Amino acid sequence: MSIAQRLNQIRSRIGDAAAKAGRDPHAIRLVAVSKTRPLEDIVEACRAGQIIFGENYVQELAAKAASIGDPLEWHFIGHLQSNKVKYLAGLVSLVHSVDRFSLAEEISRQWGRLGRSCDVLVQVNIAGEATKSGTTETGALQLVRDIALLPNVRVRGLMTMPPFFDDPEGARPYFAELKRLSDLIAAEAIPGVEMGELSMGMSGDFEAAIQEGATLVRVGTAIFGER
Ligand SMILES: *Cc1c(COP(=O)(O)O)cnc(C)c1O
Repeated sequence: MSIAQRLNQIRSRIGDAAAKAGRDPHAIRLVAVSKTRPLEDIVEACRAGQIIFGENYVQELAAKAASIGDPLEWHFIGHLQSNKVKYLAGLVSLVHSVDRFSLAEEISRQWGRLGRSCDVLVQVNIAGEATKSGTTETGALQLVRDIALLPNVRVRGLMTMPPFFDDPEGARPYFAELKRLSDLIAAEAIPGVEMGELSMGMSGDFEAAIQEGATLVRVGTAIFGER
């Protein structure tokens, strides 16, 4: 199957999952995770109408962004070192993976130099796995409060990567928990903070994530094939 055909399949599965949950399918945006994929794959997906691409590695994203003219939107979804933020400034429209205040400070500084603001999501390690990035669930509210005071960063929601399960239903409780946490933070009505976005769900479990409230699903393998 071609990338275009797989994209169509994913879009219709997103529509079905939304319908099942009584949600508007337009409230869910597909992030095509293109890490390690060649430019041609991205161009092909672009031609098939895909707009948002997610990358995990700074140098790779910067190189791809420099060589693709098609109108597309880049999201950074991987672990981010503060000393690399300067290479992303102005290139990405959303950073999904802000997990500590020092990183948000550097994002604010670098975007500020361009006279712009950066939209970010706070990554939460719901399961508390040692191998995964993300702030703790109990630390998330305070982190959002602290980031809200920075001049050039705008918190737009939360992101999570649950533990891996063979069964897509395994991740569902973690998705539900991220939604619960998001509602709790939204209820605090912190000035400048919006909790509209929930980035959760990947190739194996995006339908469950949509049923639990995802607004951004990050799908790689199901579009581009095995890495
Ligand atoms: C690689 C990656 C994905 C995509 O995973 P697939 O299983 O290939 O869909 C999503 N989110 C993050 C943070 C990733 O690193």
